[in-house]
Amino acid sequence: MTHHPGFLRTAPLQGETTSSLICRVASRYGMQAKVLRACWKWRNYPPGHEGGGARPDAEVLLNAAGRQLLAGMCGVEEDVLARALPSWGEGDAKLRAEDGDPVGLWRIGGAVAGPVAFGCRLCTARRTGTALRAVRYAPRWERACVRHGRWLLDADANQPLEHLDLRGLPEVVAAQRRWASVARRAVRASAEPERVFALAHAVVARWWEQALQWKRETIWPQRLHQVAGGDAGGDLERWRIVGRDAVFFPEVVAVADALLDPAMAELVWADSGAGRPRALPADGRFCRRLGERLGRGWLGPLAATDHGGPLIAWMGSVIRLRRGAGGPPGYDNDPWWLRQEHHSSTMAGQLRVLSKEKKAPGSGTMWRAAVPPSSAGSSPALSTAPRNNCCSCMEYRPVRLPTSPGGCCAASATVPA
Ligand SMILES: [Zn+2]
Repeated sequence: MTHHPGFLRTAPLQGETTSSLICRVASRYGMQAKVLRACWKWRNYPPGHEGGGARPDAEVLLNAAGRQLLAGMCGVEEDVLARALPSWGEGDAKLRAEDGDPVGLWRIGGAVAGPVAFGCRLCTARRTGTALRAVRYAPRWERACVRHGRWLLDADANQPLEHLDLRGLPEVVAAQRRWASVARRAVRASAEPERVFALAHAVVARWWEQALQWKRETIWPQRLHQVAGGDAGGDLERWRIVGRDAVFFPEVVAVADALLDPAMAELVWADSGAGRPRALPADGRFCRRLGERLGRGWLGPLAATDHGGPLIAWMGSVIRLRRGAGGPPGYDNDPWWLRQEHHSSTMAGQLRVLSKEKKAPGSGTMWRAAVPPSSAGSSPALSTAPRNNCCSCMEYRPVRLPTSPGGCCAASATVPA
């Protein structure tokens, strides 16, 4: 596609959604996006949020004629768009039969090429001259704009904010810089950075839920008030969801770093009795040291006794690897394997639950109450899921753990070092 005189040039942002680019092109011509979109034939309707409202994470797939049309409108070569826009090539398979007219198909970004977040408007202005909204595919570990001190929020949630202000929270921006070196450390250790991040995120997200009861936790509340513009108290439930990932990002990066540290793995091994297996102590050195690395000397025993969590599951893998013992079928002892029930919930998912709760109190938590964690392992779909480490011996046990007092888990928490 050659550049047409009369067309204004609109360069794509790296990782941008095609839908976001079309909106910016429309704005460049002083048009509403829907007016410009009438240049394509659409095979379905744009996805909306429950209860109405356009979804910013809506994505479009275009056929060859549709892509050619957009490239012309942008005044940019098609191969430039192909390199910048992750969904560019996705249209081929879905729209192969559509030749001739420019045709488009609506999708949700997350289902096309991964999580989508709002772009930093100040960065967009720097690149394009206009501080327009942009939506980009962005992994969850790349959400702080280091240049402008902004946390860029997921674009798939039904809430109006695009970013949180990090200017009072230099530690969050610093953590974004630190993540780069943690990711390199992961690669050197032959671990995939995204899996290490997901595990660390799950560990910290679980603490985040428990932290409402932690009287000594003062760092997170302070940060949360800060990202809420001074006071999150008026709508604490909502702010705890919207602000969570930004507020605890420094801890996620610190936990990821700690889990990759061979000296920390050595402490896990020592806590387990090394060659002479024993119950993991409640005041084990690994968890104590982990708490210290997070600036929370008191956290160790709380982390060490959270037996159903992803941290103990990781410790179990580390110990079994050293012992040469077998792990869950199909997963062996991959320390970075995150069990389904440990995956952290997303902001969009939590907001949906919260909104249902508000409409019909109690309804949003029904699904949790319906399947208590202790019985989840007995459902047919989960019966082979390796959910049970005996926490005293760290052996994988494919059967349900006793939940009554005196079961091996209950006993291990009280065994002294
Ligand atoms: Zn920026």
